Amino acid sequence: MASHLASLVSTATAKATDQPVTKGSSFADVELAENNANYVKTFDALVGDKGRKHLMPKRGIAIICCMDARLDPVNMCGLEVGDAHIIRNGGGRAADAMRSLIGSQEALQTREIVVIHHEDCGYSHASTPVIQKALKSRTPDGAHPLVDAISLQEFSDPKESVREDVAFLRTNPLVHPESMISGWYYSVQNGELTRVI
Ligand SMILES: [Zn+2]
Repeated sequence: MASHLASLVSTATAKATDQPVTKGSSFADVELAENNANYVKTFDALVGDKGRKHLMPKRGIAIICCMDARLDPVNMCGLEVGDAHIIRNGGGRAADAMRSLIGSQEALQTREIVVIHHEDCGYSHASTPVIQKALKSRTPDGAHPLVDAISLQEFSDPKESVREDVAFLRTNPLVHPESMISGWYYSVQNGELTRVI
């Protein structure tokens, strides 16, 4: 089964890389290059050395938060470019963030972890079985073991899930023992962060 899945993936990869680059109507085709050219014009004034120097985050902070498009973690925390690692995933789940967090702590010396979950999170409305059913309806049978292995790590109460994730981090032997870890709840209605733990 594993070799069959590997074959599916390699076939898909070959097809993707064989495709010539064509211009269509996507954001990347129409806007991205021009938007970036404008960003480059303002880079010195707005970012400058904050974006050039200090590979290690200046404040030694790693923030784990949801990928939700309404969240602006750098500004909601009063930080600047270069201050912190922002590790984002669906729901802002700590277990999902471990690969990045380990790099952040071991290679780049961050020692404070801030976990932020939020009001009206998509992962508090999501259902793993529903997503698995949708995926199975559009994928070949050979991919279904991959679908069965998926967990969205959904939750019903973002204040409870943030407590769970802080407990997960505080008891995880891979997390640096000197870590300062807190958990917060963010309101999408007014931008307020409330400390949960
Ligand atoms: Zn969310």
